[in-house]
Amino acid sequence: MSPYNNPLPPRPEMIRAMFGSDSAYEGVFFTEVKTTGIFCRPTCGARKPKPENVEFFSLANEAMAAGYRPCL
Ligand SMILES: [Zn+2]
Repeated sequence: MSPYNNPLPPRPEMIRAMFGSDSAYEGVFFTEVKTTGIFCRPTCGARKPKPENVEFFSLANEAMAAGYRPCL
């Protein structure tokens, strides 16, 4: 299965969704926090990271393959 089957929205849109904890983006992307090594769903209730410290992935498996741990 190709990761390109699930293209990500534009980065500014994902950053907006992350800060707004927008449930419409559940399953669309995961937010990875480079400074902590964890990844979160858009609706995660934890303190929001600085935008310059985050990367976005469409699949949790990709994030885990990159060495990130899930925040649950
Ligand atoms: Zn989280």
